Amino acid sequence: MAEQAFVTLATNDSYARGAMVLGKSLRNHKTSKKLVVLIGPHVSDQARAVLHKIFDEVRLVNVLDSGDTAHLAMMKRPDLGVTFTKLHCWTLTHYSKCVFMDADTLVVSNIDELFDREERSAAPDPGWPDCFNSGVFMFRPSNETYGKLLQYCTEHGSFDGGDQGVLNGFFSDWATADINKHLPFIYNMSSIAIYTYLPAFKQYGANAKVVHFLGQMKPWSYTYNPTQRGVRGDAQASSQPGLLLQWWALYSAEVVPMLI
Ligand code: UDP
Ligand code: MN
Repeated sequence: MAEQAFVTLATNDSYARGAMVLGKSLRNHKTSKKLVVLIGPHVSDQARAVLHKIFDEVRLVNVLDSGDTAHLAMMKRPDLGVTFTKLHCWTLTHYSKCVFMDADTLVVSNIDELFDREERSAAPDPGWPDCFNSGVFMFRPSNETYGKLLQYCTEHGSFDGGDQGVLNGFFSDWATADINKHLPFIYNMSSIAIYTYLPAFKQYGANAKVVHFLGQMKPWSYTYNPTQRGVRGDAQASSQPGLLLQWWALYSAEVVPMLI
């Protein structure tokens, strides 16, 4: 049986920092799966070197000079650049099954059981729960699906400008077709649940297996003080200090030493 892998994406050094923390968190929780990171051409050599230490495979994805169908799609829809890059994960056909994870996610317990699920298993989006959130999803690499996704993208675009809009348009029956493809929210717990449903966060938040820092402010947007073990930033930071601190503790203890 072909191997299985966790896959993430970083097109620049900021997201690469996220990918490093995600990769470390998967290793710390003893995953038995391969780790793959797709990178864009703008990721620096220094960041690539660190990614090589954490991931089994670091794959450069350059949509612009790939000369394949993705390039053609990109010519028609230049606005969807990062989206096309993310869709490249379907070309990883040397793996039988994969779980895609955004670079702004953090694993807080082993999640290898996700590989018992099928393609497009995903958790609901907190903003519109009939859509799945594309920060964590199960997929089966397939050049055929990849081609269809690119075609869908060029013909229909993305209703939200990003990959989540494309994927929800393409896999449009997710909300109703098969409850087995609905992952529990604990596999993609967005930190905004703290504002949208605080009592539920207090009740269930400790069970989270994956934390997703979705939205504009990413963990790396804040400043961390390693001696005080505190995060400085705006009001948001102070209302979710625990999760941010977990990210920063891992980053400063295990990633920073690799960057030097
Ligand atoms: N991403 C990237 N470079 C970018 C923007 C996004 O590599 O400039 C990748 C990264 O893996 C990121 C994912 O695409 O986690 C989705 O974007 P983001 O997490 O910012 O979206 P959100 O979850 O906040 O909607
Ligand atoms: Mn994200």
